[in-house]
Amino acid sequence: MSASRTRVLVVEDSPSQARRLQTVLESAEFVVSTAIDGVAGWEAFASSKFDLILSDVMMPGLSGYELCRKIKNDARGRSTPFVLLTSLAKPLDLVRGLECGADNYIYKPFQTDALLSRIRTILENKSARESAPADCDDVLFMGHPLKIAATKEQMLDYLGSTFDDFVQARHREYESALAREKQLAQAETYRLREQMLCQEKENLGRLHQFLQSTLDALATRIAILDAAGTVLAVNAAWKRLGDVDPLAGACGVGVNYLAACEGAGEPRGAEGIAVAEGIRAVSAHRRDEFSREYPCEPPEGRRWFNVRVTRFGDTDSVRVVVAYEDITSRKAAEEQLVHEAYHDALTGLPNRALLTDRLGRAVARAKWSEGFKFAVLFLDLDGFKVVNDSLGHIAGDELLMGIARRLEGCVRSGDTVARLGGDEFAILVNDVHDVQDALRLVDRVQQELSLPFLLGGHEVFTSASIGIAASDSRYDRPVELLRDVDTAMYRAKAQGKAHHVVFDQAMHTSVVNRLKLETDLRRAIDRHEFRVAYQPIVALDDGRLTGFEALVRWQHPERGLIAPGEFISAAEETGLVIPLDLWVIREACRQVRAWHDEFPRACPLMLSVNLSSKQFAYPTLIDRIDEILADTRLNPYSLRMEVTESVIMAQPEIAAAKLRQIRERGITLSMDDFGTGYSSLSYLHQFPFDVLKIDRSFVSRIGPAGENAEIAATIVALAHNLNMKIVAEGVETPEQAEHLRNLHCHYGQGFYFSRPLTAPDAAALLTQVGVRERVEVGMGGMRKETER
Ligand code: C2E
Ligand code: CA
Ligand code: CA
Repeated sequence: MSASRTRVLVVEDSPSQARRLQTVLESAEFVVSTAIDGVAGWEAFASSKFDLILSDVMMPGLSGYELCRKIKNDARGRSTPFVLLTSLAKPLDLVRGLECGADNYIYKPFQTDALLSRIRTILENKSARESAPADCDDVLFMGHPLKIAATKEQMLDYLGSTFDDFVQARHREYESALAREKQLAQAETYRLREQMLCQEKENLGRLHQFLQSTLDALATRIAILDAAGTVLAVNAAWKRLGDVDPLAGACGVGVNYLAACEGAGEPRGAEGIAVAEGIRAVSAHRRDEFSREYPCEPPEGRRWFNVRVTRFGDTDSVRVVVAYEDITSRKAAEEQLVHEAYHDALTGLPNRALLTDRLGRAVARAKWSEGFKFAVLFLDLDGFKVVNDSLGHIAGDELLMGIARRLEGCVRSGDTVARLGGDEFAILVNDVHDVQDALRLVDRVQQELSLPFLLGGHEVFTSASIGIAASDSRYDRPVELLRDVDTAMYRAKAQGKAHHVVFDQAMHTSVVNRLKLETDLRRAIDRHEFRVAYQPIVALDDGRLTGFEALVRWQHPERGLIAPGEFISAAEETGLVIPLDLWVIREACRQVRAWHDEFPRACPLMLSVNLSSKQFAYPTLIDRIDEILADTRLNPYSLRMEVTESVIMAQPEIAAAKLRQIRERGITLSMDDFGTGYSSLSYLHQFPFDVLKIDRSFVSRIGPAGENAEIAATIVALAHNLNMKIVAEGVETPEQAEHLRNLHCHYGQGFYFSRPLTAPDAAALLTQVGVRERVEVGMGGMRKETER
């Protein structure tokens, strides 16, 4: 059938729609008639022949359904394709349309191409049907509740079955025919549109699902609110944890969250209000986001939450996202870190940092509050090292923990017991009336510590040296207090075990002086401020000059010439004594070597130098000595090194080995200050000493008539037994010299013979005695040491 002969009736009550359809169809070369409603449509059908009827559904008078039924019930209209134009897309409407006999649907608004292709398909189907041989006539059982149709053959089948079965079978066929018809109705445009919609819906659905399941997978509790605070959506975590935190989780979808927050009672009231205010600020664009951390205390234990409020969407449809994150573990880690930073791991006591912090507060408080006074105790255990060395570190740790607990037992709740490291503890006592309060605490502490500790089956007794400093308006910073209390503790320690000392200003002055001394000492070597003095050593039998002892002097730029007694111990404590000694030895070796060249003698001068016991811990001592000997070319046999007993006492093995190495080089060794230490002569002979120096204190006590010479006599006798040479130092009177000669002491050194001399004075002396090799007592002997 060609389109030019195809006649189409358009039944449409909207003139504009009708016109549009007409234009479209005519452009496709259909012959178009129009009717303005159902009744007019029926009249048009009755009066002429149409190949296809296109009808609107909703029309006044006769509806599209009714017109369709009427035409399909008419013999002429049964084979005329009837297509309904509808905007109703509900399946029920579709079924209604098919029930009234419509062949197909076209949805409004239509697309021109789709409409035409639909119409062509329908017309092609119709002509295909018409050209097929008509081998059956449908029989319609009207009046039966089920609408059924059957062919003649089917009617014959009925003879072999029950009527009901037959009716059921026919009905099923009707149903599937109906379904087929419905499928036919799914023409291309509709299908495409439906497909797109479906896909869109599916995509949206999937996206929604994806978002929801993503949100649900989060441990963070999330709610989405509208601008007014009504909950629009929540994730699974929000629902799940609702009862942990009444503020965060109590509201479900539809509830106003702001109201819930603001209505939260104590203890969450303040947070509720803050969170509500944060949400308002974010939703009103007053701020971009808001967050707040807060603790809450469900019965299972304290938890921490972080609430974060952000915004999305434009001004018209603002959405607010409220996310609650459980930050309990992070908080716990933070708290742990803070705790570790401020506490001692072993005892759990506050550490130096925390004590310093609290001291700072106490210092500040003492400044503004008239009546507030505090005191600080600094404790250093006596003999802790012994416990550690003898019972081991575990016992040592146990002791420290035990002490920590006892100290805590001695103080009031506002006070702070801290461990500063090692065996050092401190106590900050707040609110004391006077220093007596602090001293009472000291007694209590000593008493507590005097009770034995049981460590691994051993009873251990301990005590502490305690320094005390009381609050004073002079203090501005905690470090000043810690410094002073530390000074006082050192003073206490120097007095022996279990002593305490209250800090006073004089201590501070001496500490400051000492610090200044150390600073100056450090610079002194580089600035060449040291000098060497040479004190003659003479043979007692004939007054022969045998050599010199090199003694260091410090030419201080402000203080003038300083004797070693004032700085040697500081040099030893700071380690500066090592370069200092080596400098003195080098300088003296150089000088004596020069004298050897200038004043050749039958028996070369002997040079005695002092070697601090600290040198023995210095690994390259021997190398340095070798270097000095090589550089100065002094014969090692002319060199004598003086060491004190303390060398042997500290580390006997190492000292013995090094002494032997020194001895192997031909250098002789002298035991200095003998009799003041703890070594006995029998012990002494295990070490390679050649010479013994009787300490000045034994010499100076020898009276004019030779009284009080017993100790000197004993030492001389014993040294003779050991085959050692003896030097008596500090000889100040002719009687002492005489008496020592009678005891067969070999050599003497002291003001009676000569004070320590500057190098030029010593050279002058050498010129003088060059021929006789003898010191004229009473002439050059009592010469004053000149400053240079
Ligand atoms: P020392 O080794 O016992 O030196 C002898 C000290 O006694 C010297 O004191 C000397 O001036 C002093 N003296 C000598 N004869 C008499 C006397 O008749 N009467 C009195 N009252 N004193 C006398 P000095 O020079 O002040 O040295 C003190 C200490 O400093 C020395 O005692 C020594 O232990 C140490 N010392 C000196 N120079 C050095 C050095 O270069 N290195 C090291 N490590 N220590 C040194
Ligand atoms: Ca000496
Ligand atoms: Ca000495």
